[in-house]
Amino acid sequence: MNILQEFDTIAAIATPLGTGGVGVIRISGGNAFEIIDKIFSKQNLEAGRIAHGWILDGNKKVDEVLVLPFKTPHSYTGEDVIEIHCHGGVNVVKNILSLVLQNGARTAERGEFTKRAFLNKKMDLSQAEAVADLIHAKTRNFAMQSAKNLSGILRDKILEIKGGIFDTLSKIVAGIDFPEDVAEPEYSYLIESFEKSLSEIDEILSCVRSSNIMRQGIKVAIVGRPNVGKSSLFNALLNANRAIVTDIAGTTRDVIKETLDLDIAVTLIDTAGIRDSEDVGKVEEIGIEFSKQSADEADLVIFLYDASAGLTNEDKEIFELVKNKPHLQAANKCDLIDKRSDGKIYISTRTGEGIQELREMIKNKVCDFSLEDTEYITNERQADCLKKCRESLIRALDAAKIGELQDLISIDLKSALLFLDEITGEVITDDILNNIFDHFCIGK
Ligand code: GDP
Repeated sequence: MNILQEFDTIAAIATPLGTGGVGVIRISGGNAFEIIDKIFSKQNLEAGRIAHGWILDGNKKVDEVLVLPFKTPHSYTGEDVIEIHCHGGVNVVKNILSLVLQNGARTAERGEFTKRAFLNKKMDLSQAEAVADLIHAKTRNFAMQSAKNLSGILRDKILEIKGGIFDTLSKIVAGIDFPEDVAEPEYSYLIESFEKSLSEIDEILSCVRSSNIMRQGIKVAIVGRPNVGKSSLFNALLNANRAIVTDIAGTTRDVIKETLDLDIAVTLIDTAGIRDSEDVGKVEEIGIEFSKQSADEADLVIFLYDASAGLTNEDKEIFELVKNKPHLQAANKCDLIDKRSDGKIYISTRTGEGIQELREMIKNKVCDFSLEDTEYITNERQADCLKKCRESLIRALDAAKIGELQDLISIDLKSALLFLDEITGEVITDDILNNIFDHFCIGK
């Protein structure tokens, strides 16, 4: 890919469409300065100097704005960029964008600004992917982690591993190409070098589980027999009336899911005891079967029973299904009882007693899904490339251990390097690239 490829000039609204303090329209490409000259009250803008003035449609005033001019290559995309900061109203930003488009820009596609930034080498692919992660982060924690990737922590680590492999490969190639002058590297040296690269890759891969949890969150199911208060608890935890609560068992027919931010995105699953009213005899069976399904799907289970009824046989049967999973046990409707046993969690979704404590307990349990190993946040694509790179290195290591021809070993090293290049985007197909940027929003 060339540095600063030639592209046409694109424009988009960079802020969400709505009412707010400020709206931003972004223009990027060779005609950005020409376009702003045609519609702004001030001319010949100087890069890096904010200009204050009016956007004009002929002699009609459209809005009073600030304009931020950036000259290539010192901009987000690496091209000439103009940012117009106007008042944040849906129609103001739309009016200004229309003017920009009428004067020579075209509407940007999803992620096209960031794609240009990548193609113009303002960032590598792992950083471009971090931009999307940052925007879509469901938790503050994940946003902070994504910012680390945006700063290039993953890229730097990959470059370091690549450097090591490349170094060894160069020694092998030199030995092959100039056998008279350069000795083949020792096999013990190769083994040591491959093991080092493998351990570095394993260091990143060891974060995959926690980065998946960070990215996707964990699933928490509230499980228990009908009418113990699962939907009520679901609502209480979310502080919302998302699930319908009634006295009639089996009102909630669908599984309801909502996300809580407990540093990790927690998807709460309310399975509120589906009942088959046609077949009363099967009620218990269905309740149990249903609890089993949702418990299977969940990473953490909250087992709920009715304190006023005590633990019934049906409760016990359901508990048997979940006891081997990470779980919490809570006795609901404690407002209906006087006596309490030590060491049990009592809650009342009616009075709110114990709900905050339960929230804290869920949060602590969620933290057990260790997030310590999150030095490197990866996505599925990156983890996949790392695993393939690992396989190539293992093949090279095995070959070195049996003293295989170094020419053959070099083939695996080259393929290991290619997989690493895919992470940073040095080797990438259009399909993969489009797939990545299609997940962005317009204006980013
Ligand atoms: P689910 O079938 O397990 O989802 O149970 P629901 O959340 O639909 O609640 C069943 C019934 O129990 C409803 O009438 C709720 O108002 C009632 N209920 C839920 N939580 C409490 C509580 O803490 N105390 C009392 N007294 N009633 C509750």
